[in-house]
Amino acid sequence: MGNVYIKSLGEKYLMANYSRHPIAFAKGEGAYVWDASGKKYLDFVTGLAVNALGHCHPAVVEAAVRQCKELMHSSNLYWTAPAAELAQLLVEHSCLDRVFLCNSGTEANEAAIKLARRYFHTVLKENRSTIITFSRSFHGRTIAAATATAQEVVHSGFDPLPGGFAYAAYNDIEALEAVIDDTTCAVLMEPVQGEGGINVADRDYLRQVRELCDKTGTLLVLDEIQCGLGRTGHLFAYEYYGIKPDIVTLAKALGGGLPLGAVLATEEVSAGFGPGSHGSTFGGNPVCCAAGRAVLETLLEPGFIEGVRDMGHYFMNKAFALAGKYDCIKEVRGLGLMIGIDLNRPGSAVVDACREKGLLVNCAAKTVIRLLPPLNVTQQQADRAFSVLDEALAEFSEAEEVE
Ligand code: PLP
Repeated sequence: MGNVYIKSLGEKYLMANYSRHPIAFAKGEGAYVWDASGKKYLDFVTGLAVNALGHCHPAVVEAAVRQCKELMHSSNLYWTAPAAELAQLLVEHSCLDRVFLCNSGTEANEAAIKLARRYFHTVLKENRSTIITFSRSFHGRTIAAATATAQEVVHSGFDPLPGGFAYAAYNDIEALEAVIDDTTCAVLMEPVQGEGGINVADRDYLRQVRELCDKTGTLLVLDEIQCGLGRTGHLFAYEYYGIKPDIVTLAKALGGGLPLGAVLATEEVSAGFGPGSHGSTFGGNPVCCAAGRAVLETLLEPGFIEGVRDMGHYFMNKAFALAGKYDCIKEVRGLGLMIGIDLNRPGSAVVDACREKGLLVNCAAKTVIRLLPPLNVTQQQADRAFSVLDEALAEFSEAEEVE
């Protein structure tokens, strides 16, 4: 089946809620994917930060296949070793004490919102329920996570949205001080905003947010669904900031390509979820958790995360060099291997040109070329990608001159 046929089939039978590129992927290995015509691409989208170890990482495949042959599902009426062992790994390598497992990022945030509220209602017996989120955030597509997402385009047409959410400007402590009050139960924030265009919270700002939460008795929930698990050059992004959150949400990279999400919380806050309070049929699925364990074990190998940090500097230097060359680049932002090149106009032509030349990147917030390479990307692959980007930006700049 070729690209055109698969596209026509999808257009006929799938709902039209995505705008997709006109290719279908058939195979992936490491940093590369092949479309249905056999064309090879260097993949710096990585399934939007899911394939953080590259496509079909052997340790992840091996763990998942082995688990597939033993037990694929049992339900949360029973314990399974992969879920318990994954939770153990997450706890032992974080500042948090307990884990709730689910299937996606939006479900992790939904659960975190419910946990924060239930902690106040049932443990503290206080009537505080408002969740504060931030401009340009993205927290998912379920109705509460979409409401938490402070972007009109995500809300549009879904009225009535649930109450109990308030918004503040990102990276602006005074804006948060103005909104936080004695009805606030949690502040929910991405330390590095992904979909919003790679916006990095300032170190001082996030520390001030932590202090403000402490002062007002508010929970700090960090959405590390895109920026967590090694992406910033730290296993958890909060480590870069030197703060401890009360709750962290994870997904994307966690399952190594399989659907897996997690909420990590302190012992005290976890008490909000007593038996029967929350659940998920597929949450903690043994195959996904076995894969998740292989992902974490790989990330925890000596030198892996330091390698991400070093490669992150290499990428940033390359991106700054491009910014020095092309006036169409307004700003370069990023942390670790989460990099945004902000253009002076919508960047879809750059994305299309890169794709034609065999490099996958995508555009966030319309103008930001987002690079999410695999965390084990090589210098040679980085050099190849930046030479393609250079060509694409040259064409993009020429097109502006013609306009
Ligand atoms: N939170 C963040 C920071 C994300 O980037 C995303 C997805 O892009 C989500 C939540 C939602 O995750 P999912 O699409 O797995 O529901």
